[in-house]
Amino acid sequence: MSEHKRLTAPIAPGGTIGILGGGQLGRMLALAAARLGLKTHIYSDEENAPAFQVAALRTHARYDDEAVLAAFAGACDAVTFEFENVPSATAEFLADHVPVNPNPRALAICQDRLAEKNFIASLGLKTPLFASIASADDARDGIAKIGAPAVLKTCRMGYDGKGQAKIADAGDIVQALGSFKGAPAILEAFVDFSFEASIVAARGADGAFAAYDPPENAHENHILKRSTVPSRLSAAQADEAKAMAWKIAEAFGYVGVFAVELFVGRDGALLVNEIAPRVHNSGHWTIEACVVSQFEQHIRAVAGWPLGDGSRHSDAVMENLIGEEANDWRALSARGGALHLYGKSEARAGRKMGHITWLTKKDGG
Ligand code: AMP
Repeated sequence: MSEHKRLTAPIAPGGTIGILGGGQLGRMLALAAARLGLKTHIYSDEENAPAFQVAALRTHARYDDEAVLAAFAGACDAVTFEFENVPSATAEFLADHVPVNPNPRALAICQDRLAEKNFIASLGLKTPLFASIASADDARDGIAKIGAPAVLKTCRMGYDGKGQAKIADAGDIVQALGSFKGAPAILEAFVDFSFEASIVAARGADGAFAAYDPPENAHENHILKRSTVPSRLSAAQADEAKAMAWKIAEAFGYVGVFAVELFVGRDGALLVNEIAPRVHNSGHWTIEACVVSQFEQHIRAVAGWPLGDGSRHSDAVMENLIGEEANDWRALSARGGALHLYGKSEARAGRKMGHITWLTKKDGG
């Protein structure tokens, strides 16, 4: 295996950060980079990627086109990504030419729910009970181990509830495996949680660590609807969540921002649902409510700069605008709060079109 390139010095203003993926996360990363005097080069396989509108440089190409990838690597001082399903061969190829963070190993583990759960468990952190499912025999053993109700998820490529099925018995598993076209899957106990939370954190190239206050997250139709800070987590639980994130970051040798999605059990236990190796929707409120947002923090980390001050100066509620909710921008723009629209031309059902953040209380207010 060839040697991956490493950052040897901070990237000076005027330098270029390459971002694989051109959605709203890439767009908000590009805006944050611009404020620090850094250029961004967005690489996307989508013709009208929202991030293209705000970046200095753009490449529209397939993620497996090595000639284009090599030219992109040559035009960037460092490369990062804004979605976790970047093909691992793409990340590996780029990493031989230019520093890529988060590192391809962290990316590969987070792309596979089974590898991810095994990794989390190996660190001594709690997850819902889980079992690997590839066959009808596994279905019987899995349901005996996990019990019902349970959730079957494809190991790869699922997000926002896609590639998931609720399971009551072994027959449901066999049927769901059929609908997944035999793709390897993971069976998880269905957690009767009290609420969901997440921890968004960063590790710098120098090993420094900074975590944001954990928001509480409400989902509708498996899609994040609302994040609220402060959450109902106690101070001790918030500290525990930060310690969990630190453990994960150290084990990965991670550089950049990531999120750990948590189920908060009725007994107060924190169970890891999944790790997102990127900036995260539940961290959007940090733009208005923190000194340095998750987007700037990520750019700082991947550019080799010191991490910024992620402390929160306001309470906040962030709401996603999904599908047609963003169509009435006139009314939304008069509602108060900080409106973000992602520049997507078509409002498909379930598509994240924008968000609004309200600051609900200031320090001492
Ligand atoms: P995921 O795609 O794994 O992040 O799941 C999306 C959402 O589905 C989560 O945020 C939860 O609301 C719900 N969910 C996923 N897995 C479980 C589980 N094992 N138990 C209960 N709810 C779950």
